[in-house]
Amino acid sequence: MKVSVVGASGRVGKASAFCLAEENIANELVLISRKESLDQLQGEALDMYDAMAAKDIRSSIKASASREDLQDSDVVVLAAGVPRKSGESRLDIAVPNARIVAEYSQAIAEYSPESIILVITNPVDVMTYVALKSSGFDRNKVFGLGNHLDSLRLKNMLAKHFNIHVSEIHTRVIGEHGDHMVPLLSSTSIGGFLIKNYAQYNTFDIEKFVKKVKTAGSFLIEKKGATEYGPAFAVSNIVNTILKDEKRILTVSSYLEGEIAGVKDVCLGVPVKLGINGIERVIPVELNKDEEEAFLLAAKTVRENSENVLKTLYS
Ligand code: NAP
Repeated sequence: MKVSVVGASGRVGKASAFCLAEENIANELVLISRKESLDQLQGEALDMYDAMAAKDIRSSIKASASREDLQDSDVVVLAAGVPRKSGESRLDIAVPNARIVAEYSQAIAEYSPESIILVITNPVDVMTYVALKSSGFDRNKVFGLGNHLDSLRLKNMLAKHFNIHVSEIHTRVIGEHGDHMVPLLSSTSIGGFLIKNYAQYNTFDIEKFVKKVKTAGSFLIEKKGATEYGPAFAVSNIVNTILKDEKRILTVSSYLEGEIAGVKDVCLGVPVKLGINGIERVIPVELNKDEEEAFLLAAKTVRENSENVLKTLYS
């Protein structure tokens, strides 16, 4: 199995590549960057090699600035793009990043037409739409990381509040990876029981939690300038699920055709069944009235942004 990481000289790309190397799921890992960063990238690959020897992992890690090295990838992780700075929203970086994502998506389609594209670049829901349109791939082959990471953040916060092991928390955030994310608290369960059955639910400040999840990324950027480990492990969850054909239900940004609340022609975070061919199906979720309203607002906002970005890109 071959996995390529585009933007591997960057913080998220590099951390994701390291995580994938350590997971030992791909026998070929290709790190791609621009020519200007090739020296650094070669250093990263060698450093990872040393680490793999310590773990007794035999792997092939190649650094390259050539798009031809995308050839025959099973999965391409697309993490090239400018990150937002403190105080910037994910949308502020939409147009410059759309150019980068469109260009690489066309290269992926040329060199690796059978691959799956996992988009990381922000604003990820808009970028997933750009990657889908620019690659011409089927919708099951192009999806984005966003709400899976938000869901992991919510899971951590709930585990802390309820003082219960994180593995017992089943929760999900859908919608936009941004201000219009929708935490599905109505169906969140702990140890198989809805959270409202727990005594601590009475002291659970929903508004405060939702705000904390929405601002978790910005908070980290203020503190350390970027997010790395969280996205990297979330990427490896998704790539593992694909390459091992695990059929897990993960929340990824996917092109919708009316499966949830009738929403169409936009990429949003929704639960999907993932396997070796990518998205096998979108799982229809039952939303309460507030969740549905919030999901529809996310759809409207992201659709408008996606259309505007595509217009700017091709005008
Ligand atoms: P970073 O450290 O600045 O790295 C940016 C990467 O993009 C580098 O590899 C850089 O290559 C490449 N790049 C920049 N401009 C380029 C261009 N014009 N053409 C080709 N490559 C270019 O940023 P980061 O923190 O890794 O973040 C990368 C992206 O992931 C950002 O858009 C960020 O917002 C997003 N992100 C998404 C999530 C998520 O959950 N979806 C989480 C975290 C971050 P050079 O080394 O050659 O400059």
